[in-house]
This record gives sequence, C-alpha cells and structure tokens, in this order.
Amino acid sequence: MEIIERPFVIAGPCSVESREQLESVCTSLCSLPQVQMIRGGVWKPRTRPGGFEGLGEPALQWMQEISNGPLRMADGNHVRFCCEVARPEHIELCLRHGINTVWIGARTTGNPFMVDELAEALRGNNMQVMVKNPMSPDVRLWIGAFERLQQANINCIAAIHRGFNMYNNYDYRNTPLWELAIELRRTFPTLPILCDPSHISGKSSMAKDLMLRALQLAYDGFMVEVHPNPSQAWTDADQQLTPSQLSDILKSLPNNINDDSSHTTALEALRSRIDAIDYDMLQLLARRMEVSREIAAVKRNEGISVYQAKRWESVMNNRIKIATDMGLDPKFVKELLDKIHIESVRVQFE
Ligand code: PEP
Ligand code: MN
Repeated sequence: MEIIERPFVIAGPCSVESREQLESVCTSLCSLPQVQMIRGGVWKPRTRPGGFEGLGEPALQWMQEISNGPLRMADGNHVRFCCEVARPEHIELCLRHGINTVWIGARTTGNPFMVDELAEALRGNNMQVMVKNPMSPDVRLWIGAFERLQQANINCIAAIHRGFNMYNNYDYRNTPLWELAIELRRTFPTLPILCDPSHISGKSSMAKDLMLRALQLAYDGFMVEVHPNPSQAWTDADQQLTPSQLSDILKSLPNNINDDSSHTTALEALRSRIDAIDYDMLQLLARRMEVSREIAAVKRNEGISVYQAKRWESVMNNRIKIATDMGLDPKFVKELLDKIHIESVRVQFE
C-alpha cells in the first residue's frame, strides 16, 4: 500500500452513525495535516447479536457524497475513505460507492475460508487492502492472510496491529504482543504496518503512549478511532478520541525518530558490545550442551534416567535466585532456562 507520508494516519469513527456525525468528524479531521484517510465502520462485527451492527449501504452513500462534495483533505484532494469488509458483497458495495481502500477485520483474518473468499472478490479490482491481526496470538494466521491475498495477485497491502485477545488482558483491551508484529515484519520486510492504539488499549487515555511506542518501533502510521462526541458513541465509546485530542497527540509526537540507525557512532559502539556478549553467550551455550552430552554418557553407563525432576527443580530455584539478585526478571529467566533444559534433554537422547 502506498504510504504517502510517515506517520500515515487513518482516523475516524468506530461506526458511521449518521450523516451529521460523519460530516462533523470529516470536517474536523480534514483540517489536520497528518490525516491521510478517514475510516468508518459500515458493517460491525458484534460479539453478541441484537446490538448495532452498522448502517450498511447508506453509510457508504454518505461517504461517496462527502468524497464528491466540496470538502477537501489537508493535501487538497477529495476525502478518501476506508472501511472493514467481511464478505464478498461488502467489497462489491464498496466498489459501487467509490471506496477503494478496505480492511479485513481481526475476526475475519483468523478464518482462512473467509480470507480466500475475500481475496477472490478483491482479485483484479485494484483495491488497497489492510489486514488486521487475528484475535488469537498466532502470527501464522496473519502471515497466511497476506499469502492468500498475494496468491490472488493483490499486492497493494498493509498490516494493522490491533492487539491480541488473551486470557489475561490486564492492562489492555487486546494485549499488543509487539514481538508478533515484529515477526510479521521479518516475514514481509517491505509491508507497511500501522498501529491501532484504540483497539489495543480500549481506552482513549492510553492512545498517545501506544502511538509513541509504535513510532519507536518504526511503524508506518496509525489507524485510530475518532468521534465528535465519544461518550455518546454507539460502539467503542471508551476508546475513541475527539478530533482535538487527536490533533494534540499528533502535534506532540516527535518527528525525528529515524529508522536508519547506521550512522550513529554511539549506537555502533554499544552494538559491538552486544555482538561480543551474544558471541560469549552462544559459546557458553555450546559448552553447556557439550557437558550435557557427557552427562548423558554417564547416565547411560550407570542406568540413570535422563530426566531428573528433583535436580531440575533445585537448579531452577537456585538460578532464579542468583538471576534476581543480578537484577534480571525472574519470569524471563525461568522461560529461558526452561528452553535450555528442553534442549539439554533433547541432546541427551542423541
Ligand atoms: C474496528 O476497527 O472497528 C474493528 C471492529 O476492529 P477489529 O477487527 O480490530 O476488532
Ligand atoms: Mn471499534
């Protein structure tokens, strides 16, 4: 997808609720120089039936009328809209109303049958397609959705990181798990990625910090929910910003975060220390595995089982204590040692 400017900002209401609401939010957002596109939910995936499920075609009609009307975005162009599509018919209706940017929502990304159907409906239409991460923390489903689009020759694509639905979502509505978005980037290095701070946090007060974090992680921009009167919103009332809140946040974000770090000598010096430490760690790990192999030989000779639960428990407790005294996070150390132990047991069976 073409990122005209960084950060590429898509903003707008969770749901289109009325012509007045849409016009009001568009008028405010079009005056913000950073806003490149307006979002508006037209079909809303609701967890339980009976709630507001989106206005459907009339909302698209208002978008089309506003696009064809006198309002202009800050760059002087007609208003550009995007919305979520979940069925082939939605794509058909978007095309009929001049909407050529759509996104696949989190609930749909997790369903390969639906992604295939959407990819077929999108084939040859020249639409820009964004894909939100799936609800579950399975990055392969997210990657798979892009592969399905690429198989249908859809290459004008971008990702939206909206967080993952976890059993323990303590601080977030959807836990970000930044490492999964980084994994997606490793798989598709040129794929633009936007952060959706609204659905990650579920709270408008957290949007700014998340946006800053995303910039530090070299994200290409944001999709953020904005409503003229958030407390009265029909959906996602707690997480929508007012246009002026968004304006303040955008003004406050640093514009000098550079993702090319190769020229910084201070960083280079620190990185060479990291390189040396990594080398030492790997050498120690290799030595540790060698000792495991020797232990395996002794255990074999003496008829002792490979897995020794008591010994492992005492090793773990001892190491966690040492690590905690060294200022390391015990949870991190436990996970690391568990991985090392699994590998150590594996090599003892070689
Ligand atoms: C939305 O963007 O309004 C939405 C429903 O998002 P998600 O698919 O991330 O839940
Ligand atoms: Mn929403």
